[in-house]
Amino acid sequence: MGLALARRLSQKFSDSQITLLEKEFEVAQHASGRNSGVLHAGFYYPSNSLKARLCVEGNRAMRQYCLEQDLPLNTCGKLVVTRSVEENPELEKLYQRGLNNGVRLERLTPEEVQEREPNAKSQGLALFSPDTATVNPNLVCQTLKRELLAKGVQIALDTRYLFRRKKSIHTNQGIYQPGFVINAAGLYADKIAQDFGFGKQYTLLPFKGIYLGYSGSDAVIQTHIYPVPDPRQPFLGVHFTKTVDGHVKIGPTAIPALWRENYQGLKNINLRETLEILWYESQLFIQNSFGFRDLALSEIRKYNPGYFAKMAQTLVKEIDTHQFKHFLKPGIRAQLLNIQSLELVQDFVIEGDQDSLHILNAVSPAFTCALSFADYICENWLTQKT
Ligand SMILES: Cc1cc2nc3c(=O)[nH]c(=O)nc-3n(C[C@H](O)[C@H](O)[C@H](O)COP(=O)(O)OP(=O)(O)OC[C@H]3O[C@@H](n4cnc5c(N)ncnc54)[C@H](O)[C@@H]3O)c2cc1C
Repeated sequence: MGLALARRLSQKFSDSQITLLEKEFEVAQHASGRNSGVLHAGFYYPSNSLKARLCVEGNRAMRQYCLEQDLPLNTCGKLVVTRSVEENPELEKLYQRGLNNGVRLERLTPEEVQEREPNAKSQGLALFSPDTATVNPNLVCQTLKRELLAKGVQIALDTRYLFRRKKSIHTNQGIYQPGFVINAAGLYADKIAQDFGFGKQYTLLPFKGIYLGYSGSDAVIQTHIYPVPDPRQPFLGVHFTKTVDGHVKIGPTAIPALWRENYQGLKNINLRETLEILWYESQLFIQNSFGFRDLALSEIRKYNPGYFAKMAQTLVKEIDTHQFKHFLKPGIRAQLLNIQSLELVQDFVIEGDQDSLHILNAVSPAFTCALSFADYICENWLTQKT
């Protein structure tokens, strides 16, 4: 988001000085470099949502960007299959949403599924989305970074936002005096927003997505295969993704994490953060709000590769589950929780004033939306004056 925004800002306000602060030594070390790389088509989201509007435009814009920059793009499309006929009404809802959002979709019978993807298993109806594609998210970010550097945008790596004093931004590398601040800090965007007096009704609840890679040499699937998602949660369920270079992976899970960068072992642990997150997770567990208890209990089992692979097996006719041997790089979602209602926030949230703007809940499909999101922010939230 930060890279895409800086790119659009540098086009729109060409005489402004733009500096991107990044706490890591390289860009895309968090969600943007650890996601599935899927360009979603936009049929999961209600038509009045920002997600729907920006996803449809973002899919088109990101595909175009990849073509212009000669970046790899896998346009194999995606199937959403039903594991029982009881899922037909929910699938139908997705189809209607897709039509309302202007997404190209085909509704398939089990026989038509067979023709499209011989290995997919659908008990009832299925959907095919020809515009779902995959990219290499790291390559996209590196290309954006190169473009920015060539345009004279400053990228300050190893520069962590610590706090602000009036209009001064304090970092581990010194003090900045920006005219305007845009906060697109992913897993820490809520904290920075709160520092500016925004996002007080939210806290971040990290959900970890792990993946298993398929090591078999057989071309086990031709297209992405997804289940019908649980409508109570913003997660899409364990699915098969065909990566841009033709590999197959399953995931991501949605395991409640204990701290924001809880990728591996105790790395980046923050005790205060963990206590705060555990407090909210225990509330949600007791109340089973949005099915959190059921989700936590079933997701935690996916650390067992055998169990994880069995979940994915329900979507296909044949697969050698023993070939799912290696966990791939995990990612963590910057999911917001509304602390009053204890509900997960579904849509993107943007808050700000004449001094700052905060992009919150930049969860999936925010990678797909990055370019259209940047256009939207520049057209609707920023004027020449700011
Ligand atoms: C497992 C998983 C799978 C996903 N799959 C998809 C998908 O297939 N398609 C899709 O469209 N979306 C997907 N998403 C969502 C997508 O990856 C994110 O929505 C998107 O990458 C968010 O981008 P971002 O720039 O907001 O966050 P990030 O990529 O996390 O970037 C935030 C940056 O801010 C920096 N930062 C944080 N705090 C500070 C600080 N204090 N000072 C300075 N810098 C700071 C971080 O280091 C980081 O580089 C997935 C997400 C996950 C976790």
